[in-house]
Parts: sequence; structure tokens; C-alpha cells
Amino acid sequence: MNKKFFIETVGCQMNVLDSELAAAELIGCGYESAAQSKDADIILFNTCSVREHAEEKVYSALGRLKHWKEYHPDGILGVMGCMAQKDQKKIFRRAPHVDLVMGPGRLARLPELIATALLTHEQVMEVSLDRDVDRHSAAEIKDSFHLHDPIRLPLVRMSVHQAMVRIMFGCNKFCSYCIVPRVRGPEQSRPAADIISEITTLAGQGCREVTLIGQTVNNWRFDENGRRLVMADLLERVNAIDGIERIRFVSNYPTGMTDELLQAVRDLPKVMPFIHVPAQHGANSVLKRMRRMYTVEEYRDLLDRIYSIIPGVSVTSDFIVGFCGETEEEFEQTVELVRYGLFKNSFIFKYSPREGTKSALEFEDTVSEADKKRRNNELLDLQTEISTAANRQFVGRTVEILVEGPSRSQVKEEKQEQPPLLALTVDQNRLHARPVNDTAVVQLTGRTPCDRIVVFDGELSLTGQLVQVRITQSHPFTLMGELVSTT
Ligand code: SF4
Repeated sequence: MNKKFFIETVGCQMNVLDSELAAAELIGCGYESAAQSKDADIILFNTCSVREHAEEKVYSALGRLKHWKEYHPDGILGVMGCMAQKDQKKIFRRAPHVDLVMGPGRLARLPELIATALLTHEQVMEVSLDRDVDRHSAAEIKDSFHLHDPIRLPLVRMSVHQAMVRIMFGCNKFCSYCIVPRVRGPEQSRPAADIISEITTLAGQGCREVTLIGQTVNNWRFDENGRRLVMADLLERVNAIDGIERIRFVSNYPTGMTDELLQAVRDLPKVMPFIHVPAQHGANSVLKRMRRMYTVEEYRDLLDRIYSIIPGVSVTSDFIVGFCGETEEEFEQTVELVRYGLFKNSFIFKYSPREGTKSALEFEDTVSEADKKRRNNELLDLQTEISTAANRQFVGRTVEILVEGPSRSQVKEEKQEQPPLLALTVDQNRLHARPVNDTAVVQLTGRTPCDRIVVFDGELSLTGQLVQVRITQSHPFTLMGELVSTT
């Protein structure tokens, strides 16, 4: 019988994609996917290092699996992703029953490393060397290109209609609070031809929306036949692929958001009017300590350009509150920027020092937990007010939605009622939903071009289709509507 694996994913879209790639690779090598960890012979954690809390949760989960390991001496417990790269042997020290530690740069070697651990019953560690020595080298990245072969990915993706496509690896920015450049290596762009070939295959499989991902995705560039291609050129090529209806790209760094790129978003019909561009703070003094390479004035100018160039655009941002030495006055400047930005949504985080980062080494974490929490809540309240007002303007309008499938509350209901309308497999990060009766009317969800979530009633068979929905009600982060027509 084939061994079964289960991957628990924590963190950003990069990790979600890495888990898909790892799962596809393991299935390609004859392993089977388990719906729950208790049915698995191989349990892998794909980890995040951006926040301490996420790491501690993984360490706790590993601790709880000590008994599992005792009862499954031939089972494999592995840690992959950014925490694996950052903590390396520390993971074996804190959780001696872990069999495998593997950095994100070594993803291509996962089946081989599992086989070694199974054969030798010894702990296996495979991480990238320091980025200044061999690191996530170009060769290492090339080794992982075959992982992106989309032929196998429909087996593991939550939807055949939507896909994430990595166009860049790593980051060169070295923001003082961030561990990513150390664990994901230097910035490297994938060749345009590889990206286009991947998306063309995806379109042939029925994919209608692609999200191009990279840590600083707007910095994608590639030299081809003596010409430097930039992000606007890549968007133009993806826009020309038959079958693809919607294109998004995340995450952008505020510098490098050229007018040429914004005009491409405006002019290319398949590129959605949605820009995620993290500001992180509203005070120049803090941006300087964060080693962000722009001023608040430049960020505001960028917002002005985005709103004036792209009609109907929505913008989202990230903010950190309570960064080292942040005063009330500096925090107030972030409040002002959130008020100015009119963001569709802001992702707000309380600062926590990360081992191995400049800010942890050079600055003191002076802001108390209570102040961080208060500032976090104040900013969240303001953002909710802005989001509520913006969403209210959609009531009465008809918007185009790409139907993603049943809504979360529908999935919850289905889990309780018998007989189910859906055959469901749900894990923390991924929902697999197979319609049992696709003409049944259920609560569906999808997104507007500007990335607003819309919930409405419709047949499951609409999943993956573009439909027109009239908005009848608004909430801060969701719109409710009724189906007008299919397009
Ligand atoms: S741009 Fe800054 S915050 Fe984003 S991944 Fe790079 S170093 Fe981290």
C-alpha cells in the first residue's frame, strides 16, 4: 500500500503554493494524499517565520505529535518552509522526534529526503547555505523549475479555475524586521517563456484566473534576446493567453510601481483593478528604521497615481504597529495614512522581533504589549469604518463575479446536514469540494474585479463561471447579492 502524506500549511501564499508543489511532487512519486493528519504516514509542516506566534504554534503541534511518533516508528514527521531554514538544528533540539528539516529552497529534493529518512531512520536536514555563500543559487532555483509543471497540479489544487503562479523567488530588500531575504534567498525572476508556458497549460486545464506571486512581484524582470522585459511586458503576454479571464499579482513593493505598470493594469482587459502594496508605516522616521526604501510622501504620491490612472481600482496595504521606538506621534501618522489611503482592506500586525533580523539586533522592542494591542485595535476600527463606507457604495450595482464555489458558511452547514450536497475535504488551508448534485442551489462565493468578496445563492455548476450579481447588502468585508445572469 502506498504511504500517505499530510501537509499542514502556515503563512502566506508562497507557502500555500509550495505545499501544492510538494504535494504534486509526492503524488508523482507514488505517495497518496491523506485527508487528515491521523490517516497519514508522513506529516509535514510547511512553516512561516514572519511572526513568533506562528512558529510557537508549530512547535506546540510538533510537541503534541511526540505520541504519534511513538506509535508510528516508521512514520515521518517533517518541518519545511521558512522556519526550517531559519531554525535548522534548533528544531531537532526542541523536538527530537522530528525526522526531517528542509528549507524552502530544497523543495525539489523532498521525495529523496523522505526516502532517505525512511531508509536510514536518521534525522535528515537539508537547507540552503547562507545567501552570501552558495545560498538559494540560480542553479538551485532552476532545479525546482520542474515542480511548477502544471500537469500534476490539478490533483492538489483547491480549484481548477484559479491558480497561483510563482514568477519570482526570494527578496533583496532587507527590511529590518523581516526574515524572508535570509530564508528565501536573493531575488530571482523566472524566465518569461516558462511562466507563459505554465499559464497556457493551466488555461487548457480550465483555469480562468491566475495570481502571479512574488515577494516584490512588481520588480519582475527578465533579459530576453537582448531586451529587458519588465512586469508590464509580462502582464501583456499573460493577457494574450486564450482561456485566462482574470490576472492578479501580489505582493508589490512601493518603489518600482511605475506609471507604465499602472497603465498596463488599466489598459489590459484581463488584469484586474486591484493593487496590494504594503506601506507598513506612516512616519518617515519609522520607515527609516524599518529600512523601507521610500518616504510617506512617495507612498502618498503612489496612491494618488494608482487612483488617478486605474478607474475603479481597489488598494490594500499592510501595516506594522508598535515597531521599535514607535511613539504616539509616529503611530498617529500611520492613522493619518490609513485615513488618506482609503484602502479596501489593511492587514495590521503587531511588531514582534524576529531572531536574525536587523531590527532585533539593532533596536529595542520598546512598545509595551498593551500599547501594541491598543494601536492595533484603533487602526483596525478605522479600517473597518473605511471598508464599511466603501462597500456600502456597491449596494444596487451589478458586478461581475468569478464564482469560486460554496461559501464558508455553506461548507459548515454541509458538514452538519445529511445527506450532503457536497463531497468535502477540508483542512486548515484548503477546501476540496466536489458537487454531489451540481444543480442544487447553495450559497456561493466569488470576487469582483476589485477583489471584493460577494456571497449569493446559485447552482454549484456555476463554479468557475463569470456571472453578473446585483448587490443587495453590504458588510465591512463582504457583499451579499442576487444572481442576475450568467455571462
Ligand atoms: S520586501 Fe521587505 S517585508 Fe517584503 S519580503 Fe522583502 S524584506 Fe520582507
